[in-house]
Amino acid sequence: MPIRQLPETLINQIAAGEVVERPASVVKELVENALDAGAHRIEIELQDGGTRLIRVRDDGGGIPADELPLAIQRHATSKIASLEDLEAVGTLGFRGEALPSIASVSRFSLGSLHRDATHGAELVVDGGRVGEVVPKAHPRGTTVEVRDLFFNTPARRKFLRAERTELGHIEEWLRSLALARPDIELRLSHNGKPSRRYRGEANDAGLFAQGRLQETLGAEFLAHALHMEHEAGGITVSGWIADPTYNRASADQQYVYVNGRSIRDRTIAHGVKQAYADVLYHGRQPAYVLFLTLDPRRVDVNVHPAKHEVRFRDSRLIHDAVYHAVAATLAEARAGREALSSA
Ligand code: ADP
Ligand code: MG
Repeated sequence: MPIRQLPETLINQIAAGEVVERPASVVKELVENALDAGAHRIEIELQDGGTRLIRVRDDGGGIPADELPLAIQRHATSKIASLEDLEAVGTLGFRGEALPSIASVSRFSLGSLHRDATHGAELVVDGGRVGEVVPKAHPRGTTVEVRDLFFNTPARRKFLRAERTELGHIEEWLRSLALARPDIELRLSHNGKPSRRYRGEANDAGLFAQGRLQETLGAEFLAHALHMEHEAGGITVSGWIADPTYNRASADQQYVYVNGRSIRDRTIAHGVKQAYADVLYHGRQPAYVLFLTLDPRRVDVNVHPAKHEVRFRDSRLIHDAVYHAVAATLAEARAGREALSSA
């Protein structure tokens, strides 16, 4: 075959392979867009585990009608404009890839009312075929509808799992978001029935509220949770760690956020594990919600399109900061208990 330029839709479908693994990845991308738009309330409606329908509505700033076609263009974003912006990125999105990718593998619509506009508008894309922007009533904010995910990419569709499994992935992702953003009201419904509701709470002192901790990880975690707040060398390690008497058979209650972004990171996991090494039975897992805050220029979030991982400029420092914060918090709690029991 001669070399040829691929058509736009196929390019987007290829990119979708990296960004859109399953319904939960669509929910993640759409909800992160809502957060970047300053939403306070986000509503997620699903049918059949998200395979038939994912609808995300938000009350954020919205998209001007004339920018709707741009929103579904590849590499079109309102979030960065230069390399300097990329190096200090403060939004969850920045690659301008999610909407075109999702729209290329689903029946997609994007409706919005921008905060400065008087009339709403909508744009429909059917498996990559882009329609016209049409007037459509919409409250302030944005609604994205994704129907029949992977209907035109049968190879991907085959990898979809049972409704319960896909719903479980979405609920788990939502829990990780709810932990990081107690200020946001989140509602999830499935097949017409309410499935999760997190009420938005006042978020004083930048700490997440205890009520949200109980809603997400349960009363028992909360009863054993030690609050952690340590700063050294411009790295703040905060959050909640469970005292060692509360431990798990698996790593199912380990949440890590870097500058508000939920990630997986072996360096951080190892730092925590080491701090618990002497106080946990072999084979048991600690439970924790750990927020790392540092200058965004010290961390590269542009490692993978799905942004599940980051790269630290100095991962040794990060490891040690995490280790010391967790070890100190555990030691303080132990000292507190000993003081109590000898009193
Ligand atoms: P990115 O988030 O990386 O910029 P996306 O493809 O996810 O790329 O979105 C493209 C653009 O569409 C965003 O930069 C933003 O301007 C706009 N957009 C998408 N979703 C929303 C939303 N819910 N509210 C307001 N604007 C949005
Ligand atoms: Mg995005």
